[in-house]
Amino acid sequence: MTGWVTVAGLGPGAEGMITAEVQAAIAAATDIVGYIPYVRRIAPRDGLTLHESDNRVELERAAHALAMAAEGRRVVVVSSGDPGVFAMASALFEALEAQLDTFAEVDIRVLPGISAMFAAAARAGAPLGHDFCAINLSDNLKPQALIEKRLALAAQADFAMAFYNPRSKARPDGFGRALDVLRSHCEPDRLLIFARAVSTPEEHLRVVPLSEATPEMADMRTVVLVGSSLTRRVGRFVYTPRSVPE
Ligand code: SAH
Repeated sequence: MTGWVTVAGLGPGAEGMITAEVQAAIAAATDIVGYIPYVRRIAPRDGLTLHESDNRVELERAAHALAMAAEGRRVVVVSSGDPGVFAMASALFEALEAQLDTFAEVDIRVLPGISAMFAAAARAGAPLGHDFCAINLSDNLKPQALIEKRLALAAQADFAMAFYNPRSKARPDGFGRALDVLRSHCEPDRLLIFARAVSTPEEHLRVVPLSEATPEMADMRTVVLVGSSLTRRVGRFVYTPRSVPE
């Protein structure tokens, strides 16, 4: 039997936000590989082996998935949201690059999912309706100075922004620094959306002006959306218009 490995996004949490092609890949799989909370979202069944692994072991996890596929197994590597957004798809290609001679023939596919920023934006209205960027605030894999440089330049370029991994117990201060960078480039009434656990029973959305934003409003289950200078409220919604005046 020919093996394969598919890197699939499970969306932000709700069952209904998992695409049909991801569901089909899971139904056809012999093995599911991923970070513990994501693997727990997969219903156990006969013939399916669940391989839960800890955070921060993405490369080993990816190499394990490739090795099983090379042995003929049908492997789905699961990520939350979209697998290409600060998630497992890049890790899989890093592992492939490191052992290209061994894994060159493995059948690899990437299936998209609904990223947290899109689920959060849809709940709020259309805050990402014009140019935007996504920034991972974790300094696990890049220097804090680079994060702050990108924040400053994105704010100067007047992008709307989505911040992933805004604040963790290991990094309690980074998000406060990010807010300080925003404060030095944006007006105090700039709108921020703190969207926590979107599409789960714990979902909570909060819209505040930059002047009222505090680090405690974010945790690791929150994606933070920052409006551009044109982002505004209309009724209970927040949106960014499609055009920028000359
Ligand atoms: N690949 C994922 C992101 C993984 S990084 C995606 O595309 O969504 C993990 C970060 O994603 C979290 O720290 C948080 O910032 C964000 N996130 C993931 N699921 C979320 C949800 N349901 N609600 C809000 N933010 C979420």
